[in-house]
Amino acid sequence: MSISEDASRAKVNTVHLARDLKAGGSGLARISGLYIHIPFCACRCYYCDFFAQAPGSEAAMDTHLAAVIQAIRRSAACGLLADITTIYIGGGTPSYFGHGRLVQLAYTLGLSLDLTRVVEFTCEANPESLTPRLVADLYALGVNRLALGAQSFHDSELRALGRIHDAAQIQRALQAARLRFDNISLDLICGIPTQSLSSWQQSLEAAVAAEVSHVSVYPLQIEPHTVLEAQARSGHLVLADEDEVATMLLVAADRLQAAGLHRYETASYATRDRECQHNICYWTGQAYLGVGAGAASMFNLSDGSRLRLHPANDNPSNINTEALNRKQALAEDLMLGMRMMRGLSLKQINDAATLLPGLDAAIQELEALALVERKDDRLVPSTCGWLLGNEIFLRLMPDVLMRAPANNSTCHSIR
Ligand code: SF4
Repeated sequence: MSISEDASRAKVNTVHLARDLKAGGSGLARISGLYIHIPFCACRCYYCDFFAQAPGSEAAMDTHLAAVIQAIRRSAACGLLADITTIYIGGGTPSYFGHGRLVQLAYTLGLSLDLTRVVEFTCEANPESLTPRLVADLYALGVNRLALGAQSFHDSELRALGRIHDAAQIQRALQAARLRFDNISLDLICGIPTQSLSSWQQSLEAAVAAEVSHVSVYPLQIEPHTVLEAQARSGHLVLADEDEVATMLLVAADRLQAAGLHRYETASYATRDRECQHNICYWTGQAYLGVGAGAASMFNLSDGSRLRLHPANDNPSNINTEALNRKQALAEDLMLGMRMMRGLSLKQINDAATLLPGLDAAIQELEALALVERKDDRLVPSTCGWLLGNEIFLRLMPDVLMRAPANNSTCHSIR
């Protein structure tokens, strides 16, 4: 089955389910985020294990566009888009999808929902395919935020990642983006083979000099079945060790915050009021609808339970449905909430502890390990907790929080 057929079958299933939930009186809560997945790229980057066709064929992209437009129109027709406040077109590489298709997509969105209620409408782009004409047309059709996959400002590092753009193209894309947009995000990767601390600092300086409103910083991950993994296995790759990567993350935090981009999430920095509202929707348990092969959806029901739908890895036309009861959904919100620097309010934790028997013990352990700390009336990740985020998430997994402590010790509220 082709990626486009996957898209059409998967999205019809998701939209039908949401429509049936809404019509069936199960109290489908408002859906605030709309994610549109464009799973096509010019070629596959060496570190990428995302669901994407690279290179994307013209025929497959045409079929995908038709499926996505159909899913958007059907969603609108049954009222699923009435409360959307954020839209995110992600990939893959949306700018590779082509000017004509992207314009059709954005035009369809403008016809299908009230864009005056949409506070943030992001489109991802890669430097080699973002043109001044595309910038102008996306802006005219309602897009108000561009997310640019820069990754590094050094050509040798970009080559090591298998990226097809160079640093000069990043600068040209930024120049084009600035013709219309004042909300621009850059992605950067640290821990790239051949990268030194000083070259990392130069990339950070270039990002600061670009005066963008948002920067996302990711440590390179070596994923199975990627070119980098094959290089690592054959001994042809010298990777930064954990301490070097931690130093790069700390250097990034210092430099970006000194430049007025505050860290509001594990990997995200923004100037005031430019935090990514769409991602905050994910981290705060708000419902979202995903359209396009590979896009996940999440629906909240009025009894506090939750449904998550995501395409199966082996066959994206099959949608896996994960049902979370109220307690599981609550536990998930706590785990996701700790991705954000504002963490969780003590009230939220105390309220949740009445339903989650393992929560008090988990919080005590996190405090004892200095992974979290109290600030005013909130529990927030410490610097150590930020660097070792998985250590926090493991202790706040829904399964852990729903388990009663083994020693039957008396639970106490956090004050
Ligand atoms: S551009 Fe993004 S999605 Fe496409 S191959 Fe590269 S990392 Fe993967």
